[in-house]
Amino acid sequence: MTKFSRKEFLGLGAALAGATGLSSAGLDTIVAAQPAAGAGAVAADLIVINARVLTSDPAMPRAEAFAVKAGRFIAVGSSADIRNLANAQTRQIDAGGATITPGFIDCHCHVSGVGELFSVNANVPRVRELQANLKARTDKTPPGQWVEAIMFDDTKLDVALTRKELDEVSRDHPIAVNHRGGHTSWYNTKAFELAGITKNTPDPDHGRFFKDESGELTGRVAELARGVFNKVGTRERFTPEQQRDRGRQGKAHISKLLTAAGLTTVHDAGAGRDSILAYQDARESGELRHRAAYLVRGADTFNGFKAAGLYYGYGDEWLRCTGVKFAADGSASERTMRMSTPYVGTKDYGILTMTQKEIDDAVEDAWRHNFRIAIHANGDTTIDMVLKAYERVQKQWPRKDPRNRIEHCSLVNPELLARIKALGAIPTPFWTYAHYHGEKWKFYGQEKMNWMFAHKSFIDTGIRVPGASDYGPGPFEPLMAIQSMVTRKDYGGNVWGPAQRITIDQALMVATINGAYASHEEHVKGSITAGKYADFTMLEKDPHDVNPDVIKNIRVLRTVVGGRTVHEA
Ligand SMILES: [Zn+2]
Repeated sequence: MTKFSRKEFLGLGAALAGATGLSSAGLDTIVAAQPAAGAGAVAADLIVINARVLTSDPAMPRAEAFAVKAGRFIAVGSSADIRNLANAQTRQIDAGGATITPGFIDCHCHVSGVGELFSVNANVPRVRELQANLKARTDKTPPGQWVEAIMFDDTKLDVALTRKELDEVSRDHPIAVNHRGGHTSWYNTKAFELAGITKNTPDPDHGRFFKDESGELTGRVAELARGVFNKVGTRERFTPEQQRDRGRQGKAHISKLLTAAGLTTVHDAGAGRDSILAYQDARESGELRHRAAYLVRGADTFNGFKAAGLYYGYGDEWLRCTGVKFAADGSASERTMRMSTPYVGTKDYGILTMTQKEIDDAVEDAWRHNFRIAIHANGDTTIDMVLKAYERVQKQWPRKDPRNRIEHCSLVNPELLARIKALGAIPTPFWTYAHYHGEKWKFYGQEKMNWMFAHKSFIDTGIRVPGASDYGPGPFEPLMAIQSMVTRKDYGGNVWGPAQRITIDQALMVATINGAYASHEEHVKGSITAGKYADFTMLEKDPHDVNPDVIKNIRVLRTVVGGRTVHEA
């Protein structure tokens, strides 16, 4: 274990009291410029001792203790050395041998919380339960008013859901059951009637009304074909004040869940005006526990940013704009992503939601307004289109280290990997999917799966791949993600794409420092390093020590953000 001398601790601590926004280069400069202060000048606010600290810092990968002052780590080393930084006022945590990692970072998550608090829960295994949950709501809802359920997963239900099961709940209320993936929904007959959709209605561009063999509507509707339902029926109404309050409550709720899972920074992969307002409200009320970064989504909000001259990086350490988001194809879990080869046993190549021209125009506009860009592209065909757009603007208007992102970037090949590396682009592949969504991967097959969620290929190519749950479509628990990336094993014991398995140490880097890199924040977070924000997670067990198949069961004992405990088991 590397040990800092006492003198080095003290020098670092004096330099950092009250410091903000230091880069690692800045840190060296300041430490060199200010020799060690006298003993006693640098009492830590908090020291943590007797831990197994997995730092994610290659300069000192393991330690047993660290000290925190003014929300930042000021020293990392042995318990004996760190104790020297405490005085009577210093809080001490004896970790009792528990494992501590940097706070986990999720770079792609849909962090509303409003649905979780207020919508009908469709995340159930049996259709009877789904019907009961919906019925409880329709009983309290006036006829003609929508009842919506969220977090549905067709492959985890005991029957293939159709219109019929939803009609059994109600023929008087339009009902929507929204897949947790966000790209498909199931509607009852009342909803189709209100929308004027019959079995003879042609599919719109970028969408589909699914039909059975006899040509009848099944109830399942994909992608942009769902837009028509938004314009019909009545919906529960809220005053602007109620709406705003629901937004804040949602963020407070989800922030609690995320930090309980060990996350300290979470990127919101699509925030419009209401969501950004809700973040700020939750922060003002003291209910925002994690550091939130958001990708701006929606023309109105984006135009507002552009009009105000705000761009990528606007904000501070708690709430910041990390780019603008677009979506160019379908979903992995819902089998609508656009690929160069079809889904197993079909002629279905998936769905594009933007043309090359639309991608090029969106990228050019965002680029010229100083935005970092993030485009949802799952299939290899779509990833190629997005890379073309990134390559085009980089060539015409070169920018240093832009780190444009490819959201999900699910199915790759050596040619795409080389182009991603050459551009310095950031892929954000699903990190819980190999495990959690195992029953879907037969639609892709092993050959494709060896190139999907390709954490190992990215790492081997020298691409700093971060963690990304895409919650709600995927679970956000980072320990499940580590298990999934290490084992690629689903609930049933099937291993999907074994070529992409990575080591626990690699998975920990994905979950921490690579996440910081994905927002140009690797100098202030992502590792337990003196000078960085004191964001860390205490685990009951070291993931190295348990059977990889049960990493997800490790308890998160404590989550600390900026030196403040935000979760304690
Ligand atoms: Zn997403």
